[in-house]
Amino acid sequence: MDTLSNFIANQDAPAIGGGRLEVFEPATGAAYATIPDSDERDVARAVEAAKAAFPGWSQTPAADRARVLNAIADLIEQRVEAFAEAESRDQGKPVSLARSLEIPRAAANLRFFAGAILHERGEFYRSDDRALNYVLRQPRGVAGCISPWNLPLYLFTWKIAPALATGNTVVAKPSEVTPFTAWMFGQLCREAKLPMGVLNIVHGTGPKVGAAIVAHPDVPAISFTGGTATGAAIAAVAAPMFKKLSLELGGKNATIVCEDADLEKAIPMIVRSAFQNQGEICLCGSRIVVHRALLKEFTERFVNEARSLKTGDPTATDTDVGAIVSRQHLEKIQSYVALAKIEGGKVVCGGGAPHLIAQRCRGGWFHEPTVIVGLSPTCRTATEEIFGPVVTIHGVDDHGEAIQIANCTKYGLACSIWGRDIERMHRMAAKIDAGVIWLNTWMMRDLRTPFGGMKQSGVGREGGDEALRFFTEAKNVCVGW
Ligand code: NAD
Repeated sequence: MDTLSNFIANQDAPAIGGGRLEVFEPATGAAYATIPDSDERDVARAVEAAKAAFPGWSQTPAADRARVLNAIADLIEQRVEAFAEAESRDQGKPVSLARSLEIPRAAANLRFFAGAILHERGEFYRSDDRALNYVLRQPRGVAGCISPWNLPLYLFTWKIAPALATGNTVVAKPSEVTPFTAWMFGQLCREAKLPMGVLNIVHGTGPKVGAAIVAHPDVPAISFTGGTATGAAIAAVAAPMFKKLSLELGGKNATIVCEDADLEKAIPMIVRSAFQNQGEICLCGSRIVVHRALLKEFTERFVNEARSLKTGDPTATDTDVGAIVSRQHLEKIQSYVALAKIEGGKVVCGGGAPHLIAQRCRGGWFHEPTVIVGLSPTCRTATEEIFGPVVTIHGVDDHGEAIQIANCTKYGLACSIWGRDIERMHRMAAKIDAGVIWLNTWMMRDLRTPFGGMKQSGVGREGGDEALRFFTEAKNVCVGW
């Protein structure tokens, strides 16, 4: 059983209270590690370390900050296999997905922001011949970074990299469900000679550790990714303290298939957008809205392709869909499939656990790719976030109706549109309430672009300049002539 520690001022530390929490391998259902069950005392210690490190780190030349971030990225790249195996064991995702996409992306996050600070351009404004204004962008201080369990290292570094690059110091909390690669990351930071206290990682539950970071008076900026209800709880505490907040929250994304879509090309990508990472990606398309001219053919072909996906042991090279992150989350997914039936839906693919599963995974948490038809697009199954391998398919008569359905949830994170009439697709994109829209593609990410959600999918944007701005305070200096 691995015993993980907090990482505070570059030291490994247990929780002050001494408690520990178990960490489970979703593929087997067995506990394999423990983390400190930290509380506000551990957070206070981490904030002290981060505050002490701030003057030095914020005044470190950008080139030196970039060098350390790149050194951490180098170490991740040298150990992709170890990180991928750890991420898969911790989260349940196929190891092939972690190896090919998520761990490389964690290194890319660090490299991207290391590069960005070297190419920063300043702003200035001349007020006729009376004055010149220039804008200082200064780090805010100690940033709190709180991340979820679905893409653990990928999202952890997506926050930490811009925070550190811009000269902030950080107190970070990974999900207690998937803490392993964040712990490994701390060890690498020490090896890469990140100065003491610049990054501090506190493990434990949301209500104890996450809430203490949010409530701490010396943490002026909070970058959070997780569920909408948690985001609301965080905002309720942070807003009256006038903290800067970046909230990346839940989604229930539409996939719109127009009558002229090239199904040959589109279906494999739409299947991936539905079931990659067991459907546990905030960007997954879980409500598929199809023009009736194509509905029958689309549904048949989509279901055939979904049936061909192999659900099972995340370590097997031919596994497409791994294990569900926790028993509790599996039960939530199962409850939505049961609800769908009550709401009048018909399960045309999957619906439960896979029949064939490797011996070592008999105690694990699995759910087959599941496709449900015959539901109203406004019912609970079709509008609430399930965050698992479950999609609903809905027929529409025209594009206006497709847009209406895409917009009929409280969320507004992402949408993909598939078709050939690109002009019409641009018009549709402009009318859809989502922060991220893909036309004939999905999950294509350029780290320079703004990323985030509308409505209850979030507040603010990450990525590129948006992240650099979030983690810095703009100060206008006006020089009179
Ligand atoms: P969650 O909200 O339960 O937890 C996220 C993190 O917040 C965890 O580290 C948790 O310990 C912590 N936390 C919990 N309660 C807290 C509190 N009161 N104060 C401070 N921190 C607290 O989310 P989850 O179940 O880990 O992740 C799944 C959710 O994340 C889904 O809703 C998904 O859509 C969302 N998500 C959104 C994005 C995005 O970019 N918009 C990306 C990935 C996941």
